[in-house]
Amino acid sequence: GMSRLLVLGNAGIDLLCPVPHLPRPGETLVAMDQVRAPGGKGLNQAVVAARAGAAVRFVAPVGQDGAAAELVAALGAEPLDGLALLPQDAPTDLSLLMVAADAENCILSLGAAADALPAAAAEAEAAALGPDDMLLVQGNLSRQATAAAMRMAVGRGARVLLNAAPLRWDMAALLPLCTLVVANAGEAEALTGQAGAEAAEALHHAGAGLALVTLGAEGCVAAGRAGTTHHAATPARAVDTTGAGDTFCGTLAACLLAGDALAPAIAAAQRAAALTVARPGAFAALPSAEELRALLAEPRA
Ligand code: ATP
Repeated sequence: GMSRLLVLGNAGIDLLCPVPHLPRPGETLVAMDQVRAPGGKGLNQAVVAARAGAAVRFVAPVGQDGAAAELVAALGAEPLDGLALLPQDAPTDLSLLMVAADAENCILSLGAAADALPAAAAEAEAAALGPDDMLLVQGNLSRQATAAAMRMAVGRGARVLLNAAPLRWDMAALLPLCTLVVANAGEAEALTGQAGAEAAEALHHAGAGLALVTLGAEGCVAAGRAGTTHHAATPARAVDTTGAGDTFCGTLAACLLAGDALAPAIAAAQRAAALTVARPGAFAALPSAEELRALLAEPRA
């Protein structure tokens, strides 16, 4: 059958609040507005990969509350192949994003549902993977659940893509389980103590089959057995880079699953991410299925 992408990660509600300034200690701040949107790195990456044409099963822990129902409704509009929002004994995750007039922001994330997913549930999901399939995970779930799913996926012969974000627990021990690890500059430096191409090479030497370090407007660096290559970003008028990393990872996973070679997959991921940086918000800034279809039909080096 068709290759499948299992995205195992977090899903929650983003509450975006424009504020006159970022809060000071002890201050009560009144926001000018509140905009609710689906969010979470897992959810964003699953949505992008599905819109990019991959057969995606998205699995995420949620609460047993109205927010979980909101997520079910929102994801019903997405071209997902499978969806399992697993109810936990915790409220659905919530991120409060305060954005000041100068675009500086401050984020408070509540991740009790993400933390609550048992390792056995994560492992059971990965047990359905086959050698043509791929697992995509991030850093929002617990180390135990993430490691259990990765080990099972490797055992099943599936490819494993780890986005090393956020860095909440030590990911170094999991690098040997990665077909591909994607880290931004800050995460790569925290993991390796190095910058740029050296960081990507260090991640590869630490066990990742391939390591990709994203460098914002500077593009990205890939390091693997075939050597180290730099890939320039797609020029963009940056308005709000939130979600760029998620668009990059979701598009990259979809292209690699479809059988693209690394360079064209990276080119597509960077073109897709350039669309996201040119728009405000996270979920609202993800490229549409139409945009991704057009982008993927373009010739890519
Ligand atoms: P974020 O946390 O903002 O979602 P990130 O820190 O995970 O992003 P970045 O390295 O900032 O990741 O960006 C990921 C990719 O998005 C880059 O490799 C690049 O292709 C694209 N990108 C990011 N910023 C810009 C920009 N200013 N102009 C063009 N492309 C960009």
